[in-house]
Amino acid sequence: MGRNMDHRAFEGKVIDAHSHLGVDLKMYCRREYPYAQTVEGLYYRQLSAGVDVNVVFPFSGDLYFEPAGLLDGCRTPAENPLSKVPYASENLLLMQEVYEYRGDLSGRFIPFVCIDPGRRVAEQIGEIRTLASKYAIYGMKVNPVGCASSVQTLRDGGKAFLDLAAEMNWPMLFHAVPAGMDDYSSAEVVLDLARRHQHIRFCLAHCLQFRKDMLACADAMPNVWVDTAALFIQVKLVRQLMAEGGISPDAVMDCLPQGHCQVMRELCRLHPRTIIWGSDSPAYSYICVRKDSARADRIFRLSGAYEDEIAALKCLPDNARIRACSLNTLVFLFGQKGKHE
Ligand SMILES: [Zn+2]
Repeated sequence: MGRNMDHRAFEGKVIDAHSHLGVDLKMYCRREYPYAQTVEGLYYRQLSAGVDVNVVFPFSGDLYFEPAGLLDGCRTPAENPLSKVPYASENLLLMQEVYEYRGDLSGRFIPFVCIDPGRRVAEQIGEIRTLASKYAIYGMKVNPVGCASSVQTLRDGGKAFLDLAAEMNWPMLFHAVPAGMDDYSSAEVVLDLARRHQHIRFCLAHCLQFRKDMLACADAMPNVWVDTAALFIQVKLVRQLMAEGGISPDAVMDCLPQGHCQVMRELCRLHPRTIIWGSDSPAYSYICVRKDSARADRIFRLSGAYEDEIAALKCLPDNARIRACSLNTLVFLFGQKGKHE
């Protein structure tokens, strides 16, 4: 087994719970942004921002998809993929980057593997077990829209991933959005999975579009957390969707017009044990066209910076800040005690 450190190694540290390493080939070939980050680049962001540790996972699983399709914005499995199994090559490179190529920095990173919830499940699990025999892995990340694969499949064909999480005591982090945005990444489905699998720790990324009912639901569950990844542009995006009539103002937190720092303070005041700070580095900017589950194009033109995400953390009162970047994060990552203890 890779030798995992326990929660004590990270106590008292500022942890960014959501960041990416590697390349998004679809973004790169379409000249979208951002498209890449290396462990060294993220290390220098840590130094400039006063962050001690980042949870990291691959930026995409694009080596499994048809290159010509990526150029059209479509993720279709290739006949002869560059990575034979979804995320196998990307997960391996991430471990090599963290533990070997810049092993001198490895204490500053907490690597997760990415999974495709629905394709070639047994082979993915075989690859992950091999990887875990050599490297310390701390959890699993699922980005359903990023690999055009529905999170629903974890209920049946992909259920073995939940068994693996339970066996390894690994938390699961989901890119998740409420119904209406993209059905691949349904937050409702993730919450339902969490309700049925209370022995597994779940985190839903991106603040559930600040939907009051869903935040309250996550807060009430003992095994569910919510991360603030890309908070600055998430606030912008939800305000845009409200202006277009896609989201009812009554459904969301009413402090959105006061900016993302006020939203952060309010999130942490209302849900002090549930909110985890994460930046989404480098995807705190998002300038691209993305296919949703109906294969319709959705255009994003959202610019932010690491400083914006740091500002949301630094604006908190001390006790709330320590919960959001350390205490809550450690309970989610290691489960050494209950969320409400
Ligand atoms: Zn992300």
